[in-house]
Amino acid sequence: MPGQSKRFVIIGGGPGGTTCATYAARLGAQVVLIERDIVGGAAHLLDCIPSKAMIATGGMMSNMKRASEMGLAAVDSRLDFDALKNRIIDIEQRLESSVSSQLSSQGVRLVEGTGELTGPNSVRATTPDGTVIDFEADVIVLSTGSRPRIPDWAPIDGVRVLTTRHAYPPPELPDHLIVVGSGVTGVEFVHMFSSFGSDVTLIVSRQHVLPAKDPEVAAALEDTFVDRGVRLLKGARAEAISVDGQKVIVSCDDGRTVEGSHVLLAIGSVPNSDSLNLEAAGVESEWGYVKVDHNCLSNMPGIYACGDVSGKLPLSSVASTQGRKIAEHAMGLHQGPHRHLDYDKAASAIFTEPEIADVGLAEADAFAEGRKIRVTKVPFSVSAKALINNDPRGFVKIVSDPLTGVVLGGSIVGRHAAELISVLALAVTAGLTVTDLVESLFVHPALAEVLAEAAE
Ligand SMILES: Cc1cc2nc3c(=O)[nH]c(=O)nc-3n(C[C@H](O)[C@H](O)[C@H](O)COP(=O)(O)OP(=O)(O)OC[C@H]3O[C@@H](n4cnc5c(N)ncnc54)[C@H](O)[C@@H]3O)c2cc1C
Repeated sequence: MPGQSKRFVIIGGGPGGTTCATYAARLGAQVVLIERDIVGGAAHLLDCIPSKAMIATGGMMSNMKRASEMGLAAVDSRLDFDALKNRIIDIEQRLESSVSSQLSSQGVRLVEGTGELTGPNSVRATTPDGTVIDFEADVIVLSTGSRPRIPDWAPIDGVRVLTTRHAYPPPELPDHLIVVGSGVTGVEFVHMFSSFGSDVTLIVSRQHVLPAKDPEVAAALEDTFVDRGVRLLKGARAEAISVDGQKVIVSCDDGRTVEGSHVLLAIGSVPNSDSLNLEAAGVESEWGYVKVDHNCLSNMPGIYACGDVSGKLPLSSVASTQGRKIAEHAMGLHQGPHRHLDYDKAASAIFTEPEIADVGLAEADAFAEGRKIRVTKVPFSVSAKALINNDPRGFVKIVSDPLTGVVLGGSIVGRHAAELISVLALAVTAGLTVTDLVESLFVHPALAEVLAEAAE
């Protein structure tokens, strides 16, 4: 096998780094993985997994509140905050142990410490007790992730003024949470804490939440927020936060102020590259993101980057796919023409209620580009399964090529949207047509039947 004895040193053990480590080891490389915190990365400990665990608990609470509509007697749906904390810790521990055993079964050497480059082929790890270990490498992978962006006007204290890193779970359940930032992360927090019964105000800098998403999808989410009593402060940018005892006050650039018990900032992230000593190896970066090509290779031979630090799509799924592609490329597979990662075809989801998911070309983008498309939309209210689930909210929208019928993209709003979008993601990636979807024999009764109807 080509490249059998290559030495990989990977800095950062999130989904990008651990997937790369596992694949490279499977392909015969000697792999060292340096991680300063826990394997599984921020994704498992601080971001993706704990947020979804809390959202799942909130979802269960909303379902229980509607139990009588399903023919059940009223159920007690109060939150047990300590039980919730234990549930999150339990999930994290199980995932960490599963990733660790996968790495060790592949013979990956795990080094606990902070990694940095010392040259184009060398990496140093400094362990928590100050021991320094130097490694020579044929392949270096930078997968150090990102952290929340903190503007200088935000006095983050982890008690009343929080970033996403303090919220899983927060020190206490907020009476009134002010969320600053109405992108994917911000709206998930609004959803989560409003399900738990907190009052929530969302500061929206534009006129709509989710500015990067299909406006129809964003409008559907706003309606749900309004129904839940969430207060939307639109067209306002937070520019100062003060804490006064049990109160926080957020001041906006248009003179409005909001008072609450806690404030949470969800206004983007910055890459963890500042301590990597990129200059020692001559690695180029832009705004701290390592510049990479379609193979995730930096400007330096043998030095790759994946995940959030590579500045592509900040998704766990993208990080791990990049990690696999790096292992394959560096080990000599796919040197000829092969399918590069197409970030435009990555499916993504927002775990609100209703769930929102999309993939590929959005209707609004197609119109903006003046591209001819066919758009079909079917509401879940026509679905027997949605009625059985007592949740007929939302719709499926499919964007296809009017001449060939090839599926170009789609959006789903509704229960299990994050699962259902996989069908459209497969169609978009494989170049399937709407006829392929219509002729697939889906299960009945199932929500997926609405996909076939929307494809008709
Ligand atoms: C609130 C929130 C919710 C999210 N939800 C989702 C979701 O539902 N689905 C999804 O796909 N994505 C989600 N994401 C995005 C996802 O978490 C990230 O895209 C993903 O974690 C990126 O993986 P990564 O491998 O780049 O890095 P990370 O998961 O950030 O891991 C990087 C690792 O590198 C380590 N590290 C950093 N510097 C060093 C160093 N110098 N030496 C040694 N180790 C180092 C860190 O300790 C960390 O363990 C969410 C993000 C946030 C903020």
